[in-house]
This record gives sequence, structure tokens and C-alpha cells, in this order.
Amino acid sequence: MNEYDSNRIYDVVKEIGFKKTEILSEATCYLLNTCHIRDKAKEKVYHEIGRLKKNFRLKQKPIVIVAGCVAQAENEEMLKREPYIDFVIGPQAYHKLNNKIQEYLKKQKRLDETEFDAISKFSFLKNIKNSSKKVSSFLTIQEGCDKFCHFCVVPYTRGPEFSRSFNEIVKEAKILVDNGVREIILLGQNVNAYENKNFRLSDLIFEIEKIPKISRIRYTTSHPKDMTDDLINLYKVSKKLMPLVHLPVQSGSDKILKLMNRKHLISDYLKVYERLKEINSEIEFSSDFIVGYPGESENDFNDTLNLVEKIKFINSFSFIFSPRPGTVASKLETIDREISLKRLEKIQQKLFNHQINKNKSLEKRVIDVLVENKTKESSKFFGRSEHMTPVIFDGNNDEVGKIVKVQIIKSNQNTLFGKVIRKSKLRVA
Ligand code: SF4
Repeated sequence: MNEYDSNRIYDVVKEIGFKKTEILSEATCYLLNTCHIRDKAKEKVYHEIGRLKKNFRLKQKPIVIVAGCVAQAENEEMLKREPYIDFVIGPQAYHKLNNKIQEYLKKQKRLDETEFDAISKFSFLKNIKNSSKKVSSFLTIQEGCDKFCHFCVVPYTRGPEFSRSFNEIVKEAKILVDNGVREIILLGQNVNAYENKNFRLSDLIFEIEKIPKISRIRYTTSHPKDMTDDLINLYKVSKKLMPLVHLPVQSGSDKILKLMNRKHLISDYLKVYERLKEINSEIEFSSDFIVGYPGESENDFNDTLNLVEKIKFINSFSFIFSPRPGTVASKLETIDREISLKRLEKIQQKLFNHQINKNKSLEKRVIDVLVENKTKESSKFFGRSEHMTPVIFDGNNDEVGKIVKVQIIKSNQNTLFGKVIRKSKLRVA
């Protein structure tokens, strides 16, 4: 979402004459868009600002803005601790950026713009463009979260759940497609909680699918509780919804899910898994895992390993629990770090093996790849499989933005390598 937000921020500041520069020392304004999900997010911000200070030691300092979720969470504290920062702006206030920059230039007074507004920023932002000519583009449809998992800062940094207007999203999808996008990834912190005037995520996908030139649709990130029948059943009829479901589970133990306040049981998760597999056995799952959550016993961890073994997730994120200030879990007693490290190693080994096996099973097979771009190093091209796996192959420029058939020759954990099979070489059944 930060990648999407950064592009939107750039669209905003362009209107008052700013241009991107690759040369840091040339910058007259430095905006750091931050994420609070990762470990030590706050410290990384101060480290970056330290680097900036060094760069501008002998020069006129740029306007320094910290945006995003760390700015939202730390606001006053950040302005107090680091005088080099001129203002902080939360993720719900990007539409005010230009006014704030101009206000700062006029008054030279440091600013804190982190209130949650009743009116959404989306009502003010202009329609998205595809200025970087990407084949695959994010499109935010929903923000915020009302679920309050005990380890997570999102409800505090992104605010309550908000779903954008159905018509606005469809309009934006059409603009993206007119500008060369062929794959849209619908984004939200709780994307499958999307609801606008009775329209749900399934309605949105169904509508976007009607845009003729769109080839693929994905959505992320989902909550198991919101995998409703309409969304599951869409997999029966949709031709463009990709068969990879990123569905964070966090733990395989009901006890830990309860401690995390995840609001679902493992049996609910398995029901979703089984129903989707029944609809299409090619559907694969990826997930997020937190190991070493306060209270996690060896048995609880084994439950997680068993789940990983059963579902054979093909691509997942796994982390050791790290407390986020202000969350319920930050007040709980953490478990021994050595134990957590061992558990992380174990789960990652399993997850990586499944990924390697999945990729290996594709060798010699011909798969559909959406061609995204030429690689930097050589004449090879880059694209992704239906399951999002990167594919490197010999292609040609005319194929960018198209789906080609690629025969997989070899693979490693993260990537497939192959050659394009052109029509004349395909056997006709
Ligand atoms: S559902 Fe996701 S975004 Fe919401 S609190 Fe839980 S982990 Fe955070």
C-alpha cells in the first residue's frame, strides 16, 4: 500500500511543481513515506534522517516531511525528538500535502497533520494515472481496520475501515487499463471487508473483469472472517481472478488465535481452504505467520507446522513476534528469543520446501505468463505466473503486456526460468 500511496503523493506534489530526483543532494524537499508494520520502524526513520543530515551538512536543508504510519503513530514525539523534521503527515491526509507545504514555506512553522478526518482523502485526490507505464498496478479500494488484532498497529495508524465508492474504483480501473495496465491488484488492509452501498469485493471484481483489456485481477490482504460465500463462489465463474489466495492465518493454534483476537478458528480457515480447492484444485494459498507470540507453547507451534504441512502454502511471510507500541500484545510477556528463532527457522524451512517443490513441479510444463518488462541485466524478459511467481524467459518487446505461453525449463525457490512457446510450436488438440 505504501508503494501505491507514494505514487499518489507524487501525483499530488507534481501539481505545485515538484519533480522526482534520483540525486539526493539536489532535493529541495525530502519526503519519507514510512511503514509501521516492520520491526524497528521508528528507529529506521531516525537513521534515515541522520543520513539526510550528513548529506546536507554544508548545504541549505530541504523541507523534511515524514509521512505514513510511523508519522501517524509518533507525530508529536517525532517533532520533539528530531528538529530536522519540518512536518509529519498521516496516511489519511495526503490530499492536504500541497497546502501544508505552502503553509510551511510561508510561516516556517513546524506542522503536525495526523488527525483522522471525517471526509476521506479519496474525495480530493485526482484520478490515478499510470505514469510509470506499468503492466501491473495496485488500486486501493479500502483502508483501515476495525478488527483490532492484539499485535497490530493498523487500526491506530490507518483508522477505521473505509471503503471507496464502487463507481470511482471502476472508473479508476478503466483509466489504468487505458494507460496500459493489464493486471490490477485491489488493495486494502482488509480488502475483503470492502462494502460500499451493498457492493462487496465480489461485485467489484465482477465489474472490473468486464473491462475488455484487463487480463488479471488479484486482491490483498484478506481476513479469513471476510471470505464470504459470494467471494468464494466468484472463483467458479471468474475468468480473470487469479488462483492465488493470500490469506493470513498467523498461527495454527486456536488458543493463540484467541490470544491474538483474530476472531476465527482454524476450522473456519480450513473450511475456506477446502471449499476453494473443491472449486478449483489449482488454487494455491499464501499466508503470514507470527511465531513466538506471547503464550505460544511447543504444542501451539506444532499446530502451526501441521497447518503448513496440510495447506502447503506456496509463498508466505513469517516473522518472530515483535511488540508494537500501543497494542495489547505489547504489554504481554514475550517468550525466549532463542526458542522463537528456532521456531522461525523450522517453519521457514517447511515453507521454503513447499515453494521449491511447487516450482519444481512446474518444470517441463507450459504456463501462462503475463509479460511485465525486459530485465535490466540482459535480453531476458520478466513476467509472473498465475500464482504470482516471477518468470524469466526469452521474449520480445511486442509481448510486453500480453499473456504468453512459457515452457518452464528450470526453477529455484523464488523464480521460474523458461522459453516462450509461440503458436506454431503449440500442438493443436
Ligand atoms: S485484521 Fe489485519 S490490519 Fe486489521 S488489526 Fe488484524 S492484522 Fe491488523
